[in-house]
Amino acid sequence: MSIKNPYLQKVYQQVCERDPQQPEFLNAVTEVLSTLEPVIEKHPEFEAAGLMERLVEPERMIQFRVAWQDDNGKTQVNRGYRVQFNSAIGPYKGGLRFHPSVNLSIIKFLAFEQIFKNSLTGLPMGGGKGGSDFDPKGKSDAEIMRFCQSFMTELSRYIGAETDVPAGDIGVGGREIGYLFGQYKRIKNEFSGILTGKGLTYGGSLVRTQATGYGLLYFVQEMLSVMAQDSPKDKVTVISGSGNVAIYAAEKAQEMGAKVVALSDSNGYIYDPNGIDLHVVKEIKEGRRGRISEYVKTVPSAEYHEQCRGIWSIPCDIALPCATQNELLLEDAQKLIDNGVKLVAEGANMPCSLDAIALFQQSGILYAPGKASNAGGVATSGLEMCQNSMKYSWNAQEVDEKLHEIMVNIFHNTYDAAKEYGMEGNLLAGANIAGFTKIAQAMMAQGIL
Ligand code: NDP
Repeated sequence: MSIKNPYLQKVYQQVCERDPQQPEFLNAVTEVLSTLEPVIEKHPEFEAAGLMERLVEPERMIQFRVAWQDDNGKTQVNRGYRVQFNSAIGPYKGGLRFHPSVNLSIIKFLAFEQIFKNSLTGLPMGGGKGGSDFDPKGKSDAEIMRFCQSFMTELSRYIGAETDVPAGDIGVGGREIGYLFGQYKRIKNEFSGILTGKGLTYGGSLVRTQATGYGLLYFVQEMLSVMAQDSPKDKVTVISGSGNVAIYAAEKAQEMGAKVVALSDSNGYIYDPNGIDLHVVKEIKEGRRGRISEYVKTVPSAEYHEQCRGIWSIPCDIALPCATQNELLLEDAQKLIDNGVKLVAEGANMPCSLDAIALFQQSGILYAPGKASNAGGVATSGLEMCQNSMKYSWNAQEVDEKLHEIMVNIFHNTYDAAKEYGMEGNLLAGANIAGFTKIAQAMMAQGIL
């Protein structure tokens, strides 16, 4: 992917000079700017207003110390982050990630992507993201609680129901959200919707847990129907990861009649040609936080292989990368294509490298970018915020129907935007253009900020 428009080239050059050490962020900026060229050419007023220079610079970045005591009484120090990237269309919204790989580049790339994703949902949410290099793996519940309390003690200064509403992401699930919420309430003496992904007993929304995975499949279903007059039924499907997104993507895929044959974690992958038994997976991953390798103890006919990227060598019709960024590289894309893959849709954020995406597009493979296809999670977070404001809850069917409708709309807005600019079928360009257009109009209306 390259940027040819001189104005966008200049903007990109400035980002490179300012932040040369942020490869993930630079990738995300390249991907977005290279697809927005026709819009910028149609709207010279954006250059006159310095719109793109402002768009690539976060409104605010907060980095803070998180000190906590482990079970041996030893003091540990981690780094916390919150990047409040863009609030043109609503309060900042985006998850918190706890993982040792977390750094400013990763949080900035995630926050930048989130701007466009949130805009695509049609709900009034700006873009933000945060997290810490804390590793929850192997920590006791008490250690997790102390860490979350220390993290929120600092974060609470910067968030609020009308300002910035974080949620979960990798390493931050229901347990962590509960501890974070409790600490905010204690500090502020206030019960308000400052986080989403909450438990159902204290303001959470039904279907939020399933939303990203289910939403991904609603998107895939619509995409197959419109672009290939087909459906997920009987399609051999490979899904990477075995966390929140992967498990519920697998559940909805199976409900739609697809045959899910593989899942993974960061150590390796399982291949079950008879179709994955999700009860077993849930018991391992959700029940006891175990490893995916344990699957073969219960289902001996399945295979376990070390090296998670090997999952892309399994022949399939549909591939859904749902683990993490940069997990599907050029050679993986080539293997999938050689084995006859028809559709690749991202459940994770930026799981495919830029050259892998380019190869899918050149080879005529249907490809959906995460900012469109995984937007179901944040969309349902938006629905959770609505319910919190109304002090009312919708039932599961109501939330699921709204989620379905939002995902179908995202597909059509994305598809139509690409078509309008002469790039029919290029959902990456379509998602960036559709998401950007609303943000650009709001930023222009609000003046130079
Ligand atoms: P979880 O922490 O629940 O699960 C992540 C899964 O990915 C784990 O199974 C983890 O295994 C596995 N994993 C991590 N690194 C690799 C790797 N290199 N190769 C294979 N597997 C790996 O996170 P989520 O499911 O919530 O998030 C997954 C992705 O989806 C992230 O990119 C996230 O940003 C994105 N996303 C999540 C949303 C949500 O609502 N949760 C919304 C939108 C996007 P292990 O246990 O070994 O670490």
